[in-house]
Amino acid sequence: MAVNPTPMKWRYDELSWPEMAEALARQPVIILPVGTVEDHGRHLALNTDNTILEGIIHEAARRAPGDMLVLPTIPYGLDEHHMDFPGTISINIHTLIDYVADVAISVARHGFTHILIVNGHGSNAPVADLAARKTVIETGAICASMSPNAAVDPALVADVLAEGRRSAPGGIAHACEYETSMMLYLRPDLVDMSQAAADFGQVTLKYFNWDHDRPSVLAWQDWWSRFSKLGVAGDPTVATAEFGARLFEVTVERFIELVREFRTIRVRPRVDHHPAPRPASSGGDL
Ligand SMILES: [Zn+2]
Repeated sequence: MAVNPTPMKWRYDELSWPEMAEALARQPVIILPVGTVEDHGRHLALNTDNTILEGIIHEAARRAPGDMLVLPTIPYGLDEHHMDFPGTISINIHTLIDYVADVAISVARHGFTHILIVNGHGSNAPVADLAARKTVIETGAICASMSPNAAVDPALVADVLAEGRRSAPGGIAHACEYETSMMLYLRPDLVDMSQAAADFGQVTLKYFNWDHDRPSVLAWQDWWSRFSKLGVAGDPTVATAEFGARLFEVTVERFIELVREFRTIRVRPRVDHHPAPRPASSGGDL
């Protein structure tokens, strides 16, 4: 009887320390997921961002376990602006930057060279970027950030969104057509479509817009209760599990591709271009 080989471990914290020492020799990309617990309308659970984030990353790691090791998710994010909605958890901006960076820097101190902070919540994006920069500056490791949730950053699946979406511009921002479709596919038990309703309360200006063909010039995050009655920005009513399945599949495949490409980045030496200090014997008239 054929015996399936033991599947390769992909969860960072399931390795023993001798196994971690072996992993160092092959240098997989270390994935650090950062999500949040926040309101997602009347129809979705507070864990929507973490569910989508872990859904994508864990499936990618199952398919390509040799290319990545996935750290436990940091489940809380920068969310003060959602605190008017019951249940949201808010972490101080500076605390969060330092906390995320401390995890990444710990990984780098053990000798891992490639660390990818993978963000699942809009307001964490600048935090993830700053934590990655801090890690590069303090350790020299290659550390970057990205957001696979298309409501946060559509870049990875912009073509799939454009060809499959049914909502009008502005329909994909938060607890929207995208996030609801993903949840209908990943965790339909946590979706109540009878409670789903569109909310287009945020303003659209020439230089400020969410989810429009032209990019927003202005970056602005207001208190959510000032513009959203439901804790929704967009239109979840047109969401389907089929669209979620299509988005999920393409996202996972492209995420694996991205990780493999990221892994090929060489760690190049720094060069100090300052002139060499003059020896003391050469005098000087300071
Ligand atoms: Zn979300």
